[in-house]
Amino acid sequence: MRSKPIRVFKFGGASLKDNDGFKNVLSILQKYRSDRLLIVVSAIGKTTNALEEVVEAHANRTGKARELFEKVKIAHFKLAEQLLGQNHEIFDTLNDTFVEADWVLEEEPYTNYDYMYDQIVCIGELASSRIAAAFFNQEGIPVRWLDARDVIRTDNIHREGWVKWDETGEKAKQIALPLTESDGFVLTQGFIGSTSENFTTTLGREGSDYTAAIFSFCLDAKDMTIWKDVPGVLTADPRLFENVIKLDLLSYKEAIEMTYYGAKVIHPKTIKPLQNKSIPLFVKSFIDPSGEGTMISEEVEDIYPPIIAVESNQALLHISTRDFSFVAEHHLSLLFQKIADLHLQINMMQNTAISFAVCINNLPYKLKQFVESIEGEFKVTVEEGLEVIAVRHAHEGLLQSLKEGKVVLLEERIRNTVKMVVKDVPKVIRRK
Ligand code: ASP
Repeated sequence: MRSKPIRVFKFGGASLKDNDGFKNVLSILQKYRSDRLLIVVSAIGKTTNALEEVVEAHANRTGKARELFEKVKIAHFKLAEQLLGQNHEIFDTLNDTFVEADWVLEEEPYTNYDYMYDQIVCIGELASSRIAAAFFNQEGIPVRWLDARDVIRTDNIHREGWVKWDETGEKAKQIALPLTESDGFVLTQGFIGSTSENFTTTLGREGSDYTAAIFSFCLDAKDMTIWKDVPGVLTADPRLFENVIKLDLLSYKEAIEMTYYGAKVIHPKTIKPLQNKSIPLFVKSFIDPSGEGTMISEEVEDIYPPIIAVESNQALLHISTRDFSFVAEHHLSLLFQKIADLHLQINMMQNTAISFAVCINNLPYKLKQFVESIEGEFKVTVEEGLEVIAVRHAHEGLLQSLKEGKVVLLEERIRNTVKMVVKDVPKVIRRK
């Protein structure tokens, strides 16, 4: 029996994108040999995007689904061969994993798109975790592979499964805990779960952070670490802004707020389970693992520099009644029902006398479905290609500079957060 507290590590697709990535993760794990670790991994590199394309192609019967899926398989076989050699049992294991999606692709596309999505997209995490487990074992880091679907129980909302905490807690104690009690690490998948009827579900894009938090909560982890390609939590995306700084310490509250407003560094649902049990969260760099990173915990004084989050690919819908009456409560109730049914994510909204404006993530097939479902009753105009910029702890000078070259379509201020929907100023050549 091991009495050490459990620590949870999460490695995302960027850390496991290729041969060198796997070796780098191995070298990090070697430093924690004496710890009792549960490791959560995502799909390799951009595999989830590639699998989404497979689903899309199958749903639209483009005839390309199998070819696209073959590419995903080949990438995994190639990586497995580089890491484990040619004659390894991993190839049988991977074939068994891929065959589940092959069966789905052999059939007519299911009418329930989200259900079909989950059955195919889960393959990314299953395959990467199989390769990772085999590789670490080969390199002298013993790991036990755990199917996260045996532990993480969700409702049957596909693509956005809601965790059933009581059942998940019980399964974690029955299945995951004993595995952590013998020597070596436990390695499992992020992002995936299953319904009580054992159908695979997913927790929403980038959901592996959340998986790690679920395990941390259910197993009373001592701490959790997310290994990223940035040195810690930054005040803005360094690809978009200059003078970005790392925050050494962050309160749970600030982390919840900044992720809610669109900061991409951690999945928004991750913090709450950790906060409820006061489990510190570290965000560290897998490129510079000895760096301090950011610690997110309770006892932090909430004084921060401005923090900026940008969500691109937004659509703004202006919805008005066809009979020019006000958009009243019963209209709103109907619109929200549709929004909820389609699991659209609202990033901003505003109601005026004659129109209701709502800004959502632009998922083309969902947007189309939404517009079609309300067009009979409402007049709808859609503006695409927009951004939502959220600034916490903003000052006027910064806001002005963010607005340069932009048209602000909606703006709101809630306590210390300013949010705006913007588009680029159209480039027209003015003549005198
Ligand atoms: N692989 C999934 C995604 O790309 C989940 C994750 O990486 O967190 O969204």
